[in-house]
Amino acid sequence: MGWRWGVAVVLGLVVCGLPQTPDLNTHAQTAGPATVFEGARLIAGDGRTPVEDSALVVEHGRFTQVGRRGTIQLPPAAARVDLAGKTVIPALVDGHSHIGYQKGASTSARNYTRDNILDHMHRFAYYGVGASQAMGSDFGDMPYQLRQDILAGTYPDAARFLTSGRGLAPLSEIGPDNMRHAAYVVTTEEGARAEVRELASRGVTLVKTWVRAEPKMSPTLYAALIDEAHRNNIRVAVHATDPQDAKGLLRAGVDVFAHMIDDVDDELVDLFKQHPNVVVLPTLAAPRLATTYAPWLNPLDPLVAVTQPAAQIRQLRDRLEGTTPEARTRADEGWEKLALGIKRLKAAGVALGLGTDGGGQNGGFVGWTAHAELENLVAAGLTPMEVIVAATRTTAAILRIDELGAVAPGKSADFVVLDANPLDAITNTRRISRVYLRGRHVDREKLAAAWKSRAIE
Ligand SMILES: [Zn+2]
Repeated sequence: MGWRWGVAVVLGLVVCGLPQTPDLNTHAQTAGPATVFEGARLIAGDGRTPVEDSALVVEHGRFTQVGRRGTIQLPPAAARVDLAGKTVIPALVDGHSHIGYQKGASTSARNYTRDNILDHMHRFAYYGVGASQAMGSDFGDMPYQLRQDILAGTYPDAARFLTSGRGLAPLSEIGPDNMRHAAYVVTTEEGARAEVRELASRGVTLVKTWVRAEPKMSPTLYAALIDEAHRNNIRVAVHATDPQDAKGLLRAGVDVFAHMIDDVDDELVDLFKQHPNVVVLPTLAAPRLATTYAPWLNPLDPLVAVTQPAAQIRQLRDRLEGTTPEARTRADEGWEKLALGIKRLKAAGVALGLGTDGGGQNGGFVGWTAHAELENLVAAGLTPMEVIVAATRTTAAILRIDELGAVAPGKSADFVVLDANPLDAITNTRRISRVYLRGRHVDREKLAAAWKSRAIE
């Protein structure tokens, strides 16, 4: 019998050891008793009228019941958390970032380490952002591993890190030390197709490309790239802001615009209507920063200084103060066009999501910029409720992370407790009382103390 047992054990090990397709969307369950959060105004992320005096039951990291207090059956021995006077929103979901490059006042590939990415994911969590999608600036095996480790619960205070792996770019996009150095250089159709298949083997569901710098990627090349992505059940996000390029990309089947298109004319609106699943992450932080509006800089939200070093804040201020009046006027005119375009896309029923470009080379603040973007979207013509839905349910759907983006039974218990109602003023999303990710309280005080003790970096 001995050898049979031996064979059985070996077979068992082999079966258990088979590489499994990682579940990229679902976090590991957490242990512990049920908790009920009572008394808050709930803005659930679904666009419906808020629930006053709500009760949320969280078990094993998920919402199991959500409703008005008194209308739901509480589990026995549930711990209770009083949220009277507070407002709850789902954790924000950022659809566009470049994580790991910023450190102190420098932005460089030299800063791209596991520790730095993790630090950024702690900043996102600190500001109530539950997940951020890095767009084509990652490289090597490390980001895929870190993505899994966060979902497994290794870093309970970190937001979930989503990666598109390496982007696909024409040579004109690659600089000696820009984040696009991570990208595959696309020169032939066969090469682009092989690179997309390589990303598919890593479990990537959204790839990033650029049709921007001259000479641009040709329509034949991006058509092949998009075709191969769709054959592999991958969607394609693009940085393209020129309306003519946008039209070509829509005709070729692109899925996500990661930036707002400069100008929206009738033909573009018609093309969006013909491709109703195409979404736009306006990502307005950089274009609005250059305008006379940039309202959040003066006075600067004190929260920024918790995560951002003084040198970086100074650097951004200096840059803005150095803007010439002519450049400022051009930026204002550009902004008016963008805002008009957003209103047209909204009227045409195009889904709009949240993109921060955080960590990119535009001088944003990782995590905090999400709140500036909510304000930008309101300034562009969305209501605060529309903006909250865009930044939660819609962006989670764009990223296909089913368990994020809403306070509802079955969803991951990722939510933000606010001291004020963001429907009164969208800037109230910055008045964060507490953040919960995967059902656990994020220790924001501990994070802030750690940044302070090393004078941030
Ligand atoms: Zn970007």
